[in-house]
Amino acid sequence: MMEWESVIGLEIHAQLATKSKIFSGAATAYGAAPNTQACAIDLGLPGVLPVLNTDAVRMAAMFGLAVEATVAERSVFARKNYFYPDLPKGYQISQYELPVVHQGHLIIDLDDGTTKTIGITRAHLEEDAGKSLHEDFSGMTGIDLNRAGTPLLEIVSEPDLRSAKEAVAYMKKIHTLVRYLGICDGNMQEGSFRCDANVSVRPKGQERFGTRAEIKNLNSFRFVERAIEYEIERQIHLLEDGGTVVQETRLYDPDQGETRSMRSKEEANDYRYFPDPDLLPLSIDTAFIEAARQALPELPDAKRERFMGEYQLSAYDAALLTVSRDLADYFEATVAALGGEAKLCANWVMGDLSGFLNKESKDIGDSPVDPSQLAGLLRRIQDQTISGKIAKEVFEAMWQGAGDADAVIDQRGLRQITDSSAIEQIIDTVIETNPNQLAQYRSGKDKLFGFFVGQVMKASKGKANPQQVNELLLKKLAG
Ligand code: ADP
Ligand code: MG
Repeated sequence: MMEWESVIGLEIHAQLATKSKIFSGAATAYGAAPNTQACAIDLGLPGVLPVLNTDAVRMAAMFGLAVEATVAERSVFARKNYFYPDLPKGYQISQYELPVVHQGHLIIDLDDGTTKTIGITRAHLEEDAGKSLHEDFSGMTGIDLNRAGTPLLEIVSEPDLRSAKEAVAYMKKIHTLVRYLGICDGNMQEGSFRCDANVSVRPKGQERFGTRAEIKNLNSFRFVERAIEYEIERQIHLLEDGGTVVQETRLYDPDQGETRSMRSKEEANDYRYFPDPDLLPLSIDTAFIEAARQALPELPDAKRERFMGEYQLSAYDAALLTVSRDLADYFEATVAALGGEAKLCANWVMGDLSGFLNKESKDIGDSPVDPSQLAGLLRRIQDQTISGKIAKEVFEAMWQGAGDADAVIDQRGLRQITDSSAIEQIIDTVIETNPNQLAQYRSGKDKLFGFFVGQVMKASKGKANPQQVNELLLKKLAG
C-alpha cells in the first residue's frame, strides 16, 4: 500500500467590521430588508465612482502587522470580470498582482503539543457580491444587493497544512485573531467568516504537489474538517484506482457529507483581471502603518504567555481563557475583584460559567452574572461560608436573576454549618438510624464510611462543612 500525504491551503474570507461599504457610504449592517442598503455605487449604475473606505485599509494593515507580514506601500485594485446576476457591475473589485498585505505567518498548535508555522502568502481587500435567493420564489430567483460592496479581507495561506485538523487549527487561530483585532465579528452563521479549502494528495516523499481541488464556501469549522477529510479520501481512492484528480471547484454537501464537482478548470472563468481605472493605486505611508500598530491590542499568543506567567495557569487553561478577548477580560476582571486565586477563577469561568453560556448559546458579554458578582460568590467559597458544591447551586440561582451570592445564600439558608456541635447532632442521628451499617463498618467494612458521609450531607441538605463531617464521623464511628 502506498502512503499518501495531503496538502491543503486555505483562502479565508473575513468580512471587515466597517460601518459602511468598501467603496460606498451604504451601511453594512446585517439583516436589513432586501435591497435597502445598496446605493448607486453598489448597484453599479453608470457614471458613479467608487471611493475607498480608509477604515477597511486600516483593518487590513492591522491584520498584516499581527501576522508579521509586509504591509505594501503600494497596492492596486483590479477588476475581476465575470457574469453573475448578483454582481450588477459585471466585475468584482479585488486586488490581484499587488495585494495590500503579503508574506506573513502564523504559528498553530498541534495535537501532539508541538507547534507549526503556516505561511500566509497574501491578504487582499475586495468587495463582496450580492446574494441570490432561490428559496422564497418559486421558479424565480430573487437578488438582494445589501451585501454587494461589503469589504472582505481574503487571507490566502501557503500550501503548508497537512491534515484537516491542521487546517481547522489554522482557521480557528485566524478566527480568534481577527476578533481580537476587532476587524471582523467572526459570525460564521451570517457568513462573516468563511473559507475555500484547496486540497491535494501526493505519495509520501514526493516533492511535487498533486493536482488540487478547491472546495468553496465552507462556513463552519466542522464542515471544513469533514469536507477536507472526505476530499482527501476521495482523491486517494481515485488515484489508487488508476484515475487522475482533475483541477476543479467542488461544493460540500453537509447533508450527504460529500463534496461534488461544481465546475472544472476548462469551464472556469477567465477573469480578465486588469487594474481598475476608477481607483488610484493604494499608497500607505509609514505614519498610517504606525497608527495601525498603535491600535493593535495585546495579541492572543502574547496574552496566553502572560496568563501562564502572571497567573501560573497551565498552557491548556491559558489557551482556553484567551480564545476570545471578552472571555480573557472577564477572567481578569474576576481575579482582580477577588484579589487573587486565579486558578479558582479560571475553573469557574471555564466550568460553570462557560457551561451555562454554551447551553443558552450566549456570548460572555451577555452573561447575567458579571465578574464582580462571580467574585462575590467565590469569596464565599474562600471564607468557607459555602462549599464548592453549594456554590454551584448559588451560581445557578444568580444566573437566573436571584441576585448576588450573599442574597441567595441568606434567602435560601445555604450558609455552611461549621458549628461542630450541630454537625455532631446530625451525625448522631444518622448513626442511630443505621445500626446495621454501623455494625458492618465496625467489623471492618471501611467502604461504608462514604455511605455515612453521604447520609450526613443529605441530612444537612449539603450544608455541613465536608471537612468537619469527615473528621467528626471518623471519631464517632470508631465509637
Ligand atoms: P488561485 O489563484 O487559482 O486561487 P493560488 O495559487 O492563489 O490559486 O492558490 C490558492 C490556494 O491554493 C492557496 O491557499 C494555496 O496555498 C493553495 N494551493 C496551491 N496549490 C495547491 C496544491 N497543489 N494543493 C493544495 N493547495 C494548494
Ligand atoms: Mg482561489
